[in-house]
Amino acid sequence: MKQRVFVDVDDTLVLYVNPDDCSAHPFGAINGEPFVPNEELIKKLKDFQGDIFIWSGGGIAYARKVAEMVLRDSIEWIALGKHDSFSLVRPGDIVVDDQWYEMHTMKDFGVHVYSPTEEWK
Ligand SMILES: [Mg+2]
Repeated sequence: MKQRVFVDVDDTLVLYVNPDDCSAHPFGAINGEPFVPNEELIKKLKDFQGDIFIWSGGGIAYARKVAEMVLRDSIEWIALGKHDSFSLVRPGDIVVDDQWYEMHTMKDFGVHVYSPTEEWK
């Protein structure tokens, strides 16, 4: 079975520029908050052999909009609304999220959970 990666949007696929602000940035990319693509993560996605899902707690439309901005058609990806899609994650999948600590219980089910800057093992 193909491995799959689920990548969060805010503070994961995109990183916000304001260093003084350590809070989350919901919808930041369309609210005019300065951001940069997470190039290290995007490089890993380009090397990834499996299926790539870009998901957001902000919903599928937001996930798609940001992915179109930073990934364009450089890789194949599918947008998802995060809260509708947790049940899709299965053992062996990878989840990358700045709020990885909220996902850590998935590890009990064999899911690999990483922070946005962590090396995938
Ligand atoms: Mg996030």
